[in-house]
Amino acid sequence: MVQEQLVNRGIKDPQVLQAMGKVPRHLFVESALADRAHDDEPLPIGERQTISQPYMVALMTEAAELRGEQKVLEVGTGSGYQTAILAGLCLNVFSIEKIHALAVKARAVLDGLSYYNVAIHIGDGTLGWSEHAPFDAILVTAGTPELPRPLIGQLASGGRLIIPLGDERSQVLKRFRRTASGLEEEGLGDCRFVKLLGRYGWPD
Ligand code: SAM
Repeated sequence: MVQEQLVNRGIKDPQVLQAMGKVPRHLFVESALADRAHDDEPLPIGERQTISQPYMVALMTEAAELRGEQKVLEVGTGSGYQTAILAGLCLNVFSIEKIHALAVKARAVLDGLSYYNVAIHIGDGTLGWSEHAPFDAILVTAGTPELPRPLIGQLASGGRLIIPLGDERSQVLKRFRRTASGLEEEGLGDCRFVKLLGRYGWPD
């Protein structure tokens, strides 16, 4: 998976590649799908949601530019797989999941793997998590037409916000960087995510 799907497609950060090679992805999918866990595609995780394709997880993580002592907000815990990758690369991950059953399942898997630097909140992640802001990086793992305003306000100076923006069929993965003069925007490629449902996303 690491060589064929990540290195060959341009993922370079050695720490991201190492994390992707280390976290046992098969534990984050239903046991019936374990033999497909490393396939080059998203897979169903129940509740009509998906675990993201390995390449997309690596691309978003690399774009976050994590280096040790940083604090990250993830919106859309899903299976908890991306959460685990992030947790190995920064100090603390604050992850928000809207669907109770998914949050509970992800928490159990992450506890089983001793990821104690992860806090999970059940609720609307488009509101962010103001008690723990500002964040060095914010990753939104579901698609929306517009940037959720509260997330911009919770981004640290120099911080990176990675988010799929577009309609329900297709989006562009964007990186916004907070600089002294405002937000710098960069496109990272086309993608297709499930909907970000919430007050500052698609209507729930
Ligand atoms: N990165 C995750 C993984 O590796 O398993 C996949 C995330 S999945 C593509 C998107 C998740 O976002 C779903 O679990 C969905 O329930 C969640 N979601 C959608 N809208 C949300 C919101 N407003 N707040 C929090 N989570 C939300």
